[in-house]
Amino acid sequence: MNICRRFLSIVFIISCSLLVVAQQQGNFTVGTATAAPGQKATGYIEVPAGIDAATGIPVIVMRGTRPGPVLALVSGLHGTEYASVIALEKLIPRIDAAQISGTVIILPLVNIPSFLQKVPHVNPVDGKSMNRFYPGKIDGTQTERVSYLITKQVVERCDYLIDYHGGDLDEDLRPYSYWSKIGNEKQDAITRDMVLAFGLDHIIVVSDRPKDPNASRYLENTASTRGKPAIAVEAGHAGTVETNDVEALANGTLNVMRYLKMLPGAAPMLEHPVWIGKVDTISSDQNGFFYPLVQRGTYVEQGMKVGYVTDYFGNTILEARAPAAGVVLYICAVPSMKKGDTIANVGEVTKNP
Ligand SMILES: [Zn+2]
Repeated sequence: MNICRRFLSIVFIISCSLLVVAQQQGNFTVGTATAAPGQKATGYIEVPAGIDAATGIPVIVMRGTRPGPVLALVSGLHGTEYASVIALEKLIPRIDAAQISGTVIILPLVNIPSFLQKVPHVNPVDGKSMNRFYPGKIDGTQTERVSYLITKQVVERCDYLIDYHGGDLDEDLRPYSYWSKIGNEKQDAITRDMVLAFGLDHIIVVSDRPKDPNASRYLENTASTRGKPAIAVEAGHAGTVETNDVEALANGTLNVMRYLKMLPGAAPMLEHPVWIGKVDTISSDQNGFFYPLVQRGTYVEQGMKVGYVTDYFGNTILEARAPAAGVVLYICAVPSMKKGDTIANVGEVTKNP
């Protein structure tokens, strides 16, 4: 009995010391930011000049003392979707690196030229959307070089990814997330849990994004096609930074971290969200003044008028109607209406996501 006890206590001591060794993790570097365990480091992913100017993407690395997954949080691919950028800025001081398990990589503002020059949708340096050219290429334009380095230094090194958006300067948007199904049952179950843990109560189900990792186009899809569960989330509208939107994005992130066991505590999961099975885009075939007749989040019936466009003399030249019943996910927030631009996106509700 005595010997047995002594043996057990030796086994206990050995396993404790093994545990201590196993629970330590080394430094983690992204760009010029190197974080030691328990620390937060800041730096830049340097993007060299090519056929256009060089740039640097700000990066924050938070290294936990305990092992765990690497979670990447990326905002500001569209630099004037302010609520999403500010949400990550506000999150930085709210996460204590010493208290987390694993590592968090934050890119709070990728598209700096868009932010500084207040240009929506694109990177004004090359006129490209920074969420359409993944996985990017090192010999391309600035957007493509940025996309390439984010793929290499962030996507390929993370285990999970969240891409943050919000209504752009001209988009009156109600909050929602994207559940992108890639056809792998296990991964799709994890991303479903991630959107439910994030907690935005309208969820767009997407299953038609590219399956080829070399032609992934979107950031979230670049992670998904590389076997890393990823979601995209949107809150914010028309250039505003409202507390509700910022808090929804920040709190949703902390809850996903609880779901991933990077933070202690249970993650409450959203029950009975509104699943959107199809998104109908209403676009304009006219230049003119746009007048909305419904607000973001309104439920509309098929055929209902959602807005109209007049010429420069006040004559109505287009009546925009909902092609199907659903919820107005966003509607144009400004009078400027250019031929080909989006008037509104209407989401068709599905019971069977
Ligand atoms: Zn966006």
